[in-house]
Amino acid sequence: MEFKFTAEHEALRKEVRDFLAEALPNRGVGPVRPTSQENWEEQIAFNKKLAKKGWIAPAWPKEYGGLGWSHINQMIFSEELSYAGAPDGGRVFNVGMIGPTLIVHGTPEQKAEHLPRITNAEVIWCQGYSEPGAGSDLASLQTRAVRDGDDYIINGQKIWTSGGHRANQMFCLVRTDPEAPKHRGISFLLIDDIKNTPGLTIRPLINMANRHHFNEVFFEDVRVPAKNLVGEENRGWYVGMTLLDFERSGIGTTAAQKRTLEKLAKNLREGPADRRANYRTRLADLVVANNVGRYLGYRIGHIQSKGQVPNYEASVVKIYQSELGQRIYNFGVNMLGLGGQLRPEEPRAPIHGELPESYLMSVPSTIYSGTNEIQRNIIATRGLGLPRG
Ligand SMILES: Cc1cc2nc3c(=O)[nH]c(=O)nc-3n(C[C@H](O)[C@H](O)[C@H](O)COP(=O)(O)OP(=O)(O)OC[C@H]3O[C@@H](n4cnc5c(N)ncnc54)[C@H](O)[C@@H]3O)c2cc1C
Repeated sequence: MEFKFTAEHEALRKEVRDFLAEALPNRGVGPVRPTSQENWEEQIAFNKKLAKKGWIAPAWPKEYGGLGWSHINQMIFSEELSYAGAPDGGRVFNVGMIGPTLIVHGTPEQKAEHLPRITNAEVIWCQGYSEPGAGSDLASLQTRAVRDGDDYIINGQKIWTSGGHRANQMFCLVRTDPEAPKHRGISFLLIDDIKNTPGLTIRPLINMANRHHFNEVFFEDVRVPAKNLVGEENRGWYVGMTLLDFERSGIGTTAAQKRTLEKLAKNLREGPADRRANYRTRLADLVVANNVGRYLGYRIGHIQSKGQVPNYEASVVKIYQSELGQRIYNFGVNMLGLGGQLRPEEPRAPIHGELPESYLMSVPSTIYSGTNEIQRNIIATRGLGLPRG
C-alpha cells in the first residue's frame, strides 16, 4: 500500500492555495466556521469567484457544469478551502445535497433548469426535511401535499431550516398519501422562489450563539407545479435518502480544526510560561486526534474513489469529527482564560473571538446530519451486524 499524494495532487493543492490567497486576502482571520451565515455579501462574492474557475462543483461530471475531478482531488480542494476559512455561501446544500440528488433522480428538464444555476452561483437552496414532530424519525413527517390539477397544494410546517432566510429555493419532503405505510406516502418536491411564493412564511429561529442560522417555515395552501416532483409520487423517501447518502468525508472539519490548533499553539508560544506548562501536552493530544480524524476522512474518499458508497464508515467519521470539534473548541476557550469568552465583535478578543464562536457552533454538530446516537445505531447494526435494539 502506498500512502502519499501524487505530484498532480500536490500541484492542485498549490493551485487552490494560490487562488485562495488572492480571493480571500483575510484568510484565516476571524472565526473559521465555513457554514457561518455572517458576511453574506462576501460569501456570495467568493462563490462567484469560484464559479468563474468552474470550482463550485468541480467533482460533478462535465455535462452538469463540473470538471469531472476525482474524489481525492475534491477532498484536497475542500481541505484547502476549510483551512483558509473560506465561506460556504450555500454550497453545502447546493453542491452537497440537491445537486447530486437531481443528477441521480431529476428529469432532463429539472437538471437543465437547476444544475447550471448552481454551478454559476446564481441560486441558494435550503432543506425542508425536519418538522416539530419529525427529526430522527423523519418518516413521521406530516406536511401534507394534495394534487390539484397541475399543482400540489402544501399545508404544514418545517423547522430548523438552515439558511432559509437567504435561500431562493427549497427542496422538501411532503406527505402525499396519509393512508400508506409511513415511508411509502412521502414525495420529494422542489419549491421555486420561496421569498415570493404566496402562503409560504419564513420565521427566524435564533441559535444559542445568538445568530440567525435557521428558521421555521409555514405552508398555507402553497401551490407548487407538479413538474417540480422529483422521482415518483410517494417514492420520495428514497429520493430523500439518496440525498442523505451524499455524506461528506468531513475533511473540511479537520482542516478548520487544524487551523485553530495552530492559532492556539501560536498563542501558547507567545503567552506566559505557566500557561504553556499547563496546556502544551493537552494541545499535543488534540493535534494527534485531529490527524486521526483527517485520515479517517481520507478513508471515505478512498472508498468513494473505488466506486463504492461509504456506509457505516461515514457514521464513524461523523461521530469522531463532531465530538473532537467540541473537545478542541472547549479546550481552546478554557486555555484562553476569561478573554477566551469574548466574541468576534469585541476588538480585544484573543484570536479574533474565534474560540467561543466555534465552541457554540460546535454544540449542534452532534445533532445535525443525523444525531450521533442515530450514527451509533447505524454502526451497531450495519457495521457490527447487531440486531436493532
Ligand atoms: C444546526 C442545525 C441545523 C439544522 N439544519 C436543518 C435543515 O437545514 N433542514 C432540516 O430539515 N433540518 C435541519 N436540522 C434538524 C436536524 O436534522 C434534527 O435536529 C435532527 O435530525 C434531530 O431531530 P430532532 O431535533 O427532532 O431530535 P429528536 O429526533 O427528537 O431527538 C432527540 C434526542 O433523542 C435521540 N434519539 C432519537 N431517536 C433515537 C433512537 N432511535 N435511538 C437513540 N436515540 C435517539 C436523539 O439522538 C436526540 O438526542 C438542523 C439541526 C441543527 C441542530
